[in-house]
Amino acid sequence: MDIQFLGTGAGQPSKARNVSSLALKLLDEINEVWLFDCGEGTQNRILETTIRPRKVSKIFITHLHGDHIFGLPGFLSSRAFQANKEQTDLEIYGPRGIKSFVLTSLRVSGSRLPYKIHFHEFNQDSLGKILETDKFTVYAEELDHTIFCVGYRVMQKDLEGTLDAEKLKAAGVPFGPLFGKIKNGQDVILEDGTEIKAADYISAPRPGKIITILGDTRKTNASVRLAVNADVLVHESTYGKGDEKIARNHGHSTNMQAAQVATEAGAKRLLLNHISARFLSKDISQLKKDAATVFENVHVVKDLEEVEI
Ligand SMILES: [Zn+2]
Repeated sequence: MDIQFLGTGAGQPSKARNVSSLALKLLDEINEVWLFDCGEGTQNRILETTIRPRKVSKIFITHLHGDHIFGLPGFLSSRAFQANKEQTDLEIYGPRGIKSFVLTSLRVSGSRLPYKIHFHEFNQDSLGKILETDKFTVYAEELDHTIFCVGYRVMQKDLEGTLDAEKLKAAGVPFGPLFGKIKNGQDVILEDGTEIKAADYISAPRPGKIITILGDTRKTNASVRLAVNADVLVHESTYGKGDEKIARNHGHSTNMQAAQVATEAGAKRLLLNHISARFLSKDISQLKKDAATVFENVHVVKDLEEVEI
């Protein structure tokens, strides 16, 4: 499982940073890629990666500001041009209004898609668990921005324990249907009367990963709730230390506030994105240094950077 950052800049693109988008690559888990936000130029960034647009099965939008959604019509249209490839449907989750934005853009530009889009719109009253599959559950909660904006908590379900085949062989269990029974947790008795307890041959289930991806926000308790015990918290850092007042006025956070959220939530790792073009590279290292005084395992991400979870 990896996160690849497609755009890590705030507000408008710069040479170094495109506007917001990231890909949660779940190829080993479910052979899918989930996009979070889709700022203008996201499809160009994708061209520089190994991500295949038809693998993008779900898109989650945090809020309707342009730097988070203007790339959608272009991405959706280009996704249609994958000739001779299976055109799989796509799900879009986001605040109410996202459907009308997408359908209007497609209609007035005469764009026709050979696949279906299923929209899942929500507002303040319909948040909480927004998606559950056999492997993942996704929750959304409202943050504190200048317009309705949400953060997402993606929870992988616990992974089943694995069968220790070598140990079974050593215990004299013949390879075959008995292996299947033991794997399903059933105790068995061998022909010679030996009892094999399934629990002795299956490793303990491993806890699933928790990934928290927030939209633009002031510091708020909702961010902490979404990030409780997260393996990775992706948090905006539009401003730096000392800019708390201006951050508040513009509906954003500083690096220090992001670090406080990570600390309060007991997250394992903090990735800062949504970085203003005002910051030069020496400022970026300062952003990290300052944040690390509050939360040590912090990193300021770059466009196209890939982080293993
Ligand atoms: Zn915004």
